[in-house]
Amino acid sequence: MRNIGLYIHIPFCRGKCPYCDFFSVNWDRNAVEKYTQALCRKIESLKGRYNAETVYFGGGTPSSIGTQNMIKILNSINSSFGKSCVECTLEVNPESAKEQDFKLLKEAGVNRISMGLQSANENELKALGRKHSAEDVVKAVSMIKSSGISNISLDLMLGISEQTEESLERSILFCQELDISHISAYMLKIEPGTPYSRQKNSLSLPDEDTVCDLYEYTVQRLKKSGFAQYEISNFSKPGLESRHNLKYWNCEEYLGLGPGAHSFINKNRFYYERNFDSFFADITVNDGKGGSEDEYITMRLRLSDGISKTEFKRYFGYDIPQKYIDKAAKLEKLGYTVCTQNGFSLSVKGFLISNTIITEILTAK
Ligand code: SF4
Repeated sequence: MRNIGLYIHIPFCRGKCPYCDFFSVNWDRNAVEKYTQALCRKIESLKGRYNAETVYFGGGTPSSIGTQNMIKILNSINSSFGKSCVECTLEVNPESAKEQDFKLLKEAGVNRISMGLQSANENELKALGRKHSAEDVVKAVSMIKSSGISNISLDLMLGISEQTEESLERSILFCQELDISHISAYMLKIEPGTPYSRQKNSLSLPDEDTVCDLYEYTVQRLKKSGFAQYEISNFSKPGLESRHNLKYWNCEEYLGLGPGAHSFINKNRFYYERNFDSFFADITVNDGKGGSEDEYITMRLRLSDGISKTEFKRYFGYDIPQKYIDKAAKLEKLGYTVCTQNGFSLSVKGFLISNTIITEILTAK
């Protein structure tokens, strides 16, 4: 059996947030039932092939399908994907948390919850079109903790309309007081085709320099609160990094099930198109070979640990080409990288323009 990370996409939401580009449709009872059955059939058809070391339910809003449907899917996974899952994450929306039975979900294997707080400021939540309040998050975290699930991650958004360092500080303090284990802090991106992209001139979003300042503030502030940065946008208490997401950044194998879900198995990349029919017919699209040097360096440089010469050799069977080391050393003089005896990583300044710096390294001669 191959060791993998298993991603399950749940493509239902109760309304669409104006900035969101994920594949999801409006919640509908019949569609949810039909999708749950199709997922269980697909999972059971793979019995004995994979050992899921991690499971991640993302969306969409996974919690929108309800505890009983989630348990059906978890039971299928438990009987088909091995017994050594160390981390099973469920994305939950604050407003649908009260409908969940977290004790039952924990018994079925869920041991980590990821929730979209985005901001603790009501004006910012409104600007994002979110339906929850900060108070909903307080109640949800308390419910989750009383079920015995202590590994909780909250998402924060940087670059929201009218966001300032002071308002961001309130959001960070809010997370700190909830005593959670993990924070993902994403910069708001205006995706083409979303309502936000059509309204972008009237949104009064902070300019690029302000967003960079907010990012640097977040990194320093979270560090002071005991959340170590381990990836461009991810911070955790010691030992509580997302094991599932680390698989992506370490170029390990994963299988994605559901519309729009991507997979990387045996050096092949493939995905389901963003529609239900392709998933129901189990038709995937070949996305070429994966695990190249370029891809590995790109993914690993998202991590604070960056590239390790030892790990590179373990992955490829040969030493990392010297041209990358030399380029990283040149970029260190400009403050974009940090070089050590065993490799190199991006600095916080480098993270801010990671695409440019990674391209510089990959095109080294
Ligand atoms: S709840 Fe999440 S997945 Fe659904 S529309 Fe909003 S941001 Fe997108």
